[in-house]
Amino acid sequence: MENPIIVALDLPSPRKALKIAEELAPVVGAFKIGKQLFISGGPEVIRKLRATGSKVFLDLKLHDIPNTVAKAVIAATELGVQMTTVHASGGSAMLAAAGNAAHEQAAMLRGEPPLVLAVTVLTSMDDSDLDELGIEVGAQEQVLRLAKLAIGAGLGGLVCSPQEITMLRTELGEEVQLVTPGIRPKSAKSDDQKRTMTPIEAIQAGANWLVIGRPITGAADPKKAAIDILLSINPELVPENERPEPISEVVDCDECGKSLKLDANEQATGRYHCPYCDKDIVHQK
Ligand code: C5P
Repeated sequence: MENPIIVALDLPSPRKALKIAEELAPVVGAFKIGKQLFISGGPEVIRKLRATGSKVFLDLKLHDIPNTVAKAVIAATELGVQMTTVHASGGSAMLAAAGNAAHEQAAMLRGEPPLVLAVTVLTSMDDSDLDELGIEVGAQEQVLRLAKLAIGAGLGGLVCSPQEITMLRTELGEEVQLVTPGIRPKSAKSDDQKRTMTPIEAIQAGANWLVIGRPITGAADPKKAAIDILLSINPELVPENERPEPISEVVDCDECGKSLKLDANEQATGRYHCPYCDKDIVHQK
């Protein structure tokens, strides 16, 4: 399994974004650059991130006539990004133009094409917002319709909310790449996200990639926050030189004090479920 964490670099300045990216690079899978950072920092931020070997997800949610979108995807491919986004509501000609542009430009450069991801219905929109646009089906139905349109046009993946993962995985099969924001570790604040999932819940539901911003970038120790998320998914995702010391095999439960024998995974993560007090514990002692 590849490291599934994409850190959303929603930070006010390119300097701050690059500083935190440098610290996090060894323990995350990629960095997401959205409109704010791209408009303030330009392609130079991407070049600097790529120069460190980090993967980049350029999230500009393109939506325009097919030729314009294709040209923008060509430019993104030249910058060497690994993922980029388009709005599925741009229609099948635009979607196909985006996917083809990525493949053709990458072939020309003899590199890997970026994964072009489709955004279906923005999670900020509900049924009444769609109704206002003359779309009479509900948000879920529209998500599936646009998802099928994008995959049918040749795109390899979708950005979806945690609530859509199971439905999309079931309807579209194993191949499609699902990238999911709205992720909150158990210990994190929800901020303005409403229907969240924990990292492991999203992976178990079928997500390939998790977009995580504030729970990592806003943490007192961002690198530790990212490592804790990896430990909660699969301790083997943490690079060996970044792994915390395993805790001992027998511990006294932090909550009720009773002695417990831990398995190798619990020792590596320091997390266990105490059968006596029926609580999920992060070992502190
Ligand atoms: O800080 P947080 O983890 O909430 O950041 C999530 C990132 O994913 C942000 O960059 C946000 O714009 C993006 N996103 C989202 N919900 C969507 C699409 C994108 O939160 N439906």
